[in-house]
Amino acid sequence: MAATNVVLGIDLGGTQTKIGFVKKDGEVLAWDVFPSLADKDFVHFVNQLSEKFQALQKNIKEEIVIKGIGLGAPNANFYTGNMEKAVNFQWGETVPLVKSIEKVLGCQVVVTNDANLVAIGEQEYGVGKGMKNFIVLTLGTGVGSGFIVNGELLLGHDGMAGEMGHVNVNPNGRLCNCGSKGCLETYASVTGIKRTVFKLLADMKRASQLRDYSYNELTGKMIAEAALEGDPIAMRAFEYTGEILGTKLADAGAYFSPEAIILAGGLTKAGDLLLIPTKKSMEKRIFQAFRGKIKLMISDMGQKYDGVLGAAALAWRHFG
Ligand SMILES: [Zn+2]
Repeated sequence: MAATNVVLGIDLGGTQTKIGFVKKDGEVLAWDVFPSLADKDFVHFVNQLSEKFQALQKNIKEEIVIKGIGLGAPNANFYTGNMEKAVNFQWGETVPLVKSIEKVLGCQVVVTNDANLVAIGEQEYGVGKGMKNFIVLTLGTGVGSGFIVNGELLLGHDGMAGEMGHVNVNPNGRLCNCGSKGCLETYASVTGIKRTVFKLLADMKRASQLRDYSYNELTGKMIAEAALEGDPIAMRAFEYTGEILGTKLADAGAYFSPEAIILAGGLTKAGDLLLIPTKKSMEKRIFQAFRGKIKLMISDMGQKYDGVLGAAALAWRHFG
């Protein structure tokens, strides 16, 4: 029997790294997840990756040919192959991702930033299939975004285009990890909604199950569950988040005229609780020529694989 062609998709996150061998049609043959240890050193990460890479290959029964490796990471630059100034990693200012991983794993590697990866994954395997113009926002610990324009991933001059997490919502607003004040990420991420919940708990006297938790205990999932059960503070927090997110989606609509805006990441588990106020706010503020024309959707790829599939799609484009 002929060998099966596969690529390796690597989704390198601030907390964990997911890797998987993926066929051209998106079937994941084997996958694994391990801690990235962003506070240790890069050499440690590469060694760990190498061990997992060998072990996963042994799990695959059929004979495989590895065509290449796609990798997504925060601030990973498509052109230089480096991760540059990633605030949540202690691996140095410039991390030579492509050079080091190619050397150790012996395959060609291509990289881009993590949100761009989700955009490519959506285009190849998700709800963005067949669309030539759409935007993906990942609402997780932070806010990432990727833009597909005229069928292509928008890279920009520096290869870093699409940093919607750091567009400004309020010049005197919340302090962001990037050093600015009032970035979208400080409102429309899991961290952002937690900050909103604590502000509401301080400002409002209403009873709420969220009063029982400390800031560090509270998770996005807990806020979503409370909102689904009708908790007034949690519901208001989603409304507020949607209102702010919608204003910036209206701006993005004016710049890019997308067919759809796809939301992915932890915060989207709340479904309509987030979608309805976001859509309302977006439609209210958008330039009238675009009103009612942009679909607002939630990703259906599932968080388990989304980054891995995106990384695989990137690898297939380059080495397939
Ligand atoms: Zn920022």
